Amino acid sequence: MPKAQIIDGKAIAESVRQEITNRAAKLLETSGKRPGLAVVLVGEDPASQVYVRNKDKAAEACGFHSVKHTLAADTSEDAVLALVDQLNNDPDIHGILVQLPLPGHIDESKVLRLIRPEKDVDGFHPVNVGLLTAGERDSALVPCTPAGSLVLLKRTLGDTLSGLNAVVVGRSNIVGKPMASLLLQESCTVTIAHSRTRDLPDVVRSADIVVAAVGRPEMIKGDWIKPGATVIDVGINRIPAPDLGEGKARLVGDVNFAEAAEVAGAITPVPGGVGPMTIAMLMVNTLTAARRLLDLPEEE
Ligand code: NDP
Repeated sequence: MPKAQIIDGKAIAESVRQEITNRAAKLLETSGKRPGLAVVLVGEDPASQVYVRNKDKAAEACGFHSVKHTLAADTSEDAVLALVDQLNNDPDIHGILVQLPLPGHIDESKVLRLIRPEKDVDGFHPVNVGLLTAGERDSALVPCTPAGSLVLLKRTLGDTLSGLNAVVVGRSNIVGKPMASLLLQESCTVTIAHSRTRDLPDVVRSADIVVAAVGRPEMIKGDWIKPGATVIDVGINRIPAPDLGEGKARLVGDVNFAEAAEVAGAITPVPGGVGPMTIAMLMVNTLTAARRLLDLPEEE
């Protein structure tokens, strides 16, 4: 038995989705409107197809109006921009998500910047990035993976993270940077580590909260973890698993789970930790976007 509490992301995500389902039903009752999510997939990337299918299924399960647009890999940039423009102006759509990566001939940032910030449920538009960085989280749409990681932290440690040392390993725009902004707003003392950080093990050892978003299998070792720390492992890495059969693979995080679980106070598993929270937070963002666009007050 590992010493650490295992943070059950699957169960927490399920409770968030249940709450959103109830709130969407109430919205329908009071306003006759359903939150509307449009997911755009360009091309046939198998992983993206799975993500898009899961997002569409989750939205339907929450009682949302859900639309999936699947475009061929050779669709022109202009055609993708025209679709985003159409969705921007569709009153039944409150959230637009363009699945990344886009094929190479399409300028990703041009597409993402065209999405109305109020409908940008991925939280990648510079307006939302700016609002989050400026500490105006309540007017922003926050990227789903860091938002979900924060929910896991609060369900584990309670609502007050103030004064805790947090180390975020990774500085990507979709995970590391927004995660650091969120933790800073919670009054943590935040360090962002990356590939040029010196003495990374020592930096991680100073953390009460470690968020690993590196994309390197089991890079963070057990002896890097301060005893009792809370570890959120965002990484999803597929590694060969010959023990499961020829050509088989298994998913592991960026943290060596077996080692870290002997030292940490609490830790997320991979799979079953942060992963399920990402889709749950997409549902939260879509409902939030719908209420704002419909000019309904935020709920208690
Ligand atoms: P990126 O590749 O965009 O960023 C990785 C970051 O890790 C970079 O900032 C990089 O530093 C840093 N890094 C790389 N190597 C090292 C090293 N040896 N030491 C310290 N830092 C290092 O990845 P993402 O942020 O997009 O994703 C990170 C992980 O999270 C991936 O495994 C991804 O699959 C997973 N993920 C999971 C999601 C979920 O739903 N659970 C959602 C999104 C991502 P530098 O900037 O210096 O290059």
